[in-house]
Amino acid sequence: MNSLEILTTARKNGYAIGAFNCINLETIAAIVAAAELENKAIILQISENAARYAGLEELFAIAKIKKDKSAVPIIIHFDHAESYSSAKRAIDLGFDSVMLESAKLEPKENLEQLKKISDYAKGKNVIIEGEFEITSKGTRSGQQLSAPEIAEMVNKSGSELVAIDIGSKHKMTTKEASLDLEHLQDIAKLVSNPLVLHGASGVSKAELQQAIKLGITKVNVATELMLSFSNAIRQELSNPDIYDARKYLARAQAAMQEKVREIIRLLQLES
Ligand SMILES: [Zn+2]
Repeated sequence: MNSLEILTTARKNGYAIGAFNCINLETIAAIVAAAELENKAIILQISENAARYAGLEELFAIAKIKKDKSAVPIIIHFDHAESYSSAKRAIDLGFDSVMLESAKLEPKENLEQLKKISDYAKGKNVIIEGEFEITSKGTRSGQQLSAPEIAEMVNKSGSELVAIDIGSKHKMTTKEASLDLEHLQDIAKLVSNPLVLHGASGVSKAELQQAIKLGITKVNVATELMLSFSNAIRQELSNPDIYDARKYLARAQAAMQEKVREIIRLLQLES
């Protein structure tokens, strides 16, 4: 199955694919190892922010090597491209999937940008995640588009994946988001594409599974993974005798791997 088939099959069958953000070798290794242990396809997500930190080519190269050696399907996704040129650069590098963060624009301009990047991706075996509502702030903070307006835009845009705002937001360290499941349901009735939830770290297990039943197919997780990674390091470094970075990084990698496994199971609606 190619990347799009993996996601459309998930939407049809009512489960979701985890899109896990990575920032370095250790986090990439943790995510891929978790996917292999669970025997499930996953999305390795590199954000424009992470690329600023570690280098886009560098992170992509590590992800690609891990993907090629992996026993399960891995989709390498560029998350939150902040401009058309940045999205284009990721397509040229060989990413499987690219998200253009463009919902901050007026809807007409957003549609033009999405159409342009989608046209560029055509024939290159890359799927485009369009941002139809602002995904970073939650509580429908962008232009208040109705479900039919979103559906019309999706059809015209050529985007395969559809990012919407149903109330979650980025960088939440507690599960206090409250999802607008009615808005999700209205969109899901009109849009058959895989729907994308950003900021899933702030969403409770029950609400997340409910959203998946209603059509959420790609679930983005970053903060929760960072927390598991950093908490493990904090714990290890409370011992002043530990100085070998491999010791605490291995511990952090193991903690994050466990967290990813737990989320993969949750997205299958099995537990
Ligand atoms: Zn996001």
